[in-house]
Amino acid sequence: MRLVSETILRIAVPSPLFRLFDYLPPREITAPLHPGVRVQVPFGRSRTVGILVATSRSSEIDPARLKRVHAVLDTEPLLPADILAMAQWAAAYYQHPLGEVLAGCLPVALRGDQSAEVRGTTVWCLTHTGIEATTADCTRAPQQARALEFLQHHPDGCSREQLNEAGIGPHILRALSARGWLETRTRAATLIASSAVPSAAPSLNPAQAAAVDAITAARDQYQSFLLDGVTGSGKTEVYLQAIAACLAADRQALVIVPEIGLTPQLLTRFRQRLGIEPAVLHSGMNESDRLNAWLAARAGTARLILGTRSAAWVPLAQPGLFIVDEEHDASLKQQEGFRYSARDLLVWRAHRDGVPIVLGSATPSLESLHNARQGRYRHLSLPERAGVASAPSLRLLDVRNQKLDEGLSPALLAHMRKHLDQGGQVLLFLNRRGFAPTLLCHACGWVAECRRCDAHLTLHQRHRLLRCHHCGSQQPIPVQCPTCGCADLRPLGAGTERVEQALERNFPAVPQVRIDRDSTRRKGRLEDLLAQATRGDARILLGTQMLAKGHHFPGVTLVGIMEADQGLFSADFRAGERLAQMVIQVAGRSGRAERPGEVLIQTHHPDHPLLLQLVAAGYPAFAVAALAEREAAGLPPFSNLALLRAEATDARAPEQFLYAASADLDTRTLTGIERWGPVPSPMERRAGRTRAQLLLVARDRKRLQRLLAEWVPQLSNLKSARKVRWSIDVDPVDLF
Ligand code: ADP
Ligand code: ZN
Ligand code: ZN
Repeated sequence: MRLVSETILRIAVPSPLFRLFDYLPPREITAPLHPGVRVQVPFGRSRTVGILVATSRSSEIDPARLKRVHAVLDTEPLLPADILAMAQWAAAYYQHPLGEVLAGCLPVALRGDQSAEVRGTTVWCLTHTGIEATTADCTRAPQQARALEFLQHHPDGCSREQLNEAGIGPHILRALSARGWLETRTRAATLIASSAVPSAAPSLNPAQAAAVDAITAARDQYQSFLLDGVTGSGKTEVYLQAIAACLAADRQALVIVPEIGLTPQLLTRFRQRLGIEPAVLHSGMNESDRLNAWLAARAGTARLILGTRSAAWVPLAQPGLFIVDEEHDASLKQQEGFRYSARDLLVWRAHRDGVPIVLGSATPSLESLHNARQGRYRHLSLPERAGVASAPSLRLLDVRNQKLDEGLSPALLAHMRKHLDQGGQVLLFLNRRGFAPTLLCHACGWVAECRRCDAHLTLHQRHRLLRCHHCGSQQPIPVQCPTCGCADLRPLGAGTERVEQALERNFPAVPQVRIDRDSTRRKGRLEDLLAQATRGDARILLGTQMLAKGHHFPGVTLVGIMEADQGLFSADFRAGERLAQMVIQVAGRSGRAERPGEVLIQTHHPDHPLLLQLVAAGYPAFAVAALAEREAAGLPPFSNLALLRAEATDARAPEQFLYAASADLDTRTLTGIERWGPVPSPMERRAGRTRAQLLLVARDRKRLQRLLAEWVPQLSNLKSARKVRWSIDVDPVDLF
């Protein structure tokens, strides 16, 4: 350690190295620099942008060898102290290099040396001649005519995204510009204009009122709440009134929802009820909109921020309330790169910022229920549906020995007919997209498998393709069996595409929508289909988990779960919990208004204890039993996990690396820590790579953390590390 005369700047640079880098300040700087500013620094042979984390009077490096910062990019810290602290905590907790954590928490538009200013967006507008032109001027260019008409309907101009959505590509824009009809303008970003007068709130029932009171009473202090309310119990209403109180106290509210949860329906509800325009942050936005929303949150001009996972990192000028909706949802955990849980981060941040946080769900994670039992979270329950709606009744349909029409049993079809005749809507849930999950040769038993994964290829009839849902590779459907040459290849099992056909056959006059990843690929399509479902224009709603979560379809009276059996026999210890959550969430889409709901669950295992319990006693009873099992098995939440994964094209490299990593563990203190593996991953080959893993299990979180802090940063020094991609996953949500 050497003392030096100049201040040493300790800088986090995006790199895989688990350390900060020391630099000298630029010569011309006289004012002291504050942590949280971006700096441009020489790094290796190039320049990169890093973030000043701390200043120091000493360095372990010879000051003569320290390089100088090239430029300071911000006049004031871009990241406030709480975000910097959270990044440092998260980097240590999840064992990820701080430089990457910090780079990742900035909007993409600020990861380089761009200035942190609100951006205008470029829009395409018609010129005077363009406004005056008519489609008759382009009779031989129908695409131009269509574009002209579209733009004439948008006198304020259109963004690139809007034009893309409308199928108007760059060549048409060029053609119209060449005719002098079109020009680009920069429109100032409209920031968070308050929209309307808030609409009236319903009067709360006693359970809701108690929840709102508890949350508002915790103002200006840390307190975690688990808002455990059955589907349709009015959790969102509780959020809205707690947020209204927070806004009235001149504080900002931040709401995190799962990827699928951020629908236009939800935004409209927030906008109308609170009378302000929420700032939205999610991964599908363009860079400048995202930047503008981020800056508005940081400046305090945005009072309500609604976002997905990464919004947990948004700086707030006056934080007052955090909400995590559907807190059990796996998408709140980032599953690649920096594997953090947005929920757990936000609990940490609430503590740091001294504000209340609400974790809401109809099917709380076992972790959160355990935390509530331990008194770390305050348990608020909404045991009944709000308003006039009553809880739906659940029933198992034994489909053994039944003649199934593409997976639909006669009993399910009969119930559908009854509900449709009575004017209800029917929602059918099948968590499998495509036409059929397998293509089988009837002569020899060959099945179409992915060359790069341990998985079957899914048949997509409409695109005439076989597709792998794990690596995305695709190929044409073979005309004959590659093994025996027979042409009798048959689709086996049913996905949503196939069920859709069966429904069209059984209910030819009934309008239906299919909602899954394939049917909603085009931008705006999901919104469209959801609107049809909500309005009741579509009477049969068929879909995957995209349809299962959070939506409010008031007309749905029957929910059919086509298959509950997939999750019953999975190797993953969380499979039971996931299945129970899925069933209850899907079931929760029925009977949300005046008419009572019915839920039918098709199964080949009508005696399975998990299903029986769920149907008879509901999620709380399931959770009690599941927690007891986890405790007996020493699994989370009664223990803590860290999973080291490795993969490589070389089949032996992953295990070699994991054995070396495991040997390294032998040199360390392992009291209270169990090691499972190395073992091949449950899906051993994926995307052409062989995969293996090593699991660490510890009762005591701190012990595990201490071990990881010593062990993980130097794993890249192992010789065998060079041949693999490896990652560490602390609190993994799945063990695949
Ligand atoms: P959740 O978020 O728990 O699914 P919501 O807040 O969406 O529940 O409420 C479900 C339905 O009940 C919505 O239509 C909502 O407007 C209505 N609702 C909620 N609270 C009340 C209340 N206190 N009185 C009447 N209707 C209510
Ligand atoms: Zn064959
Ligand atoms: Zn594959």
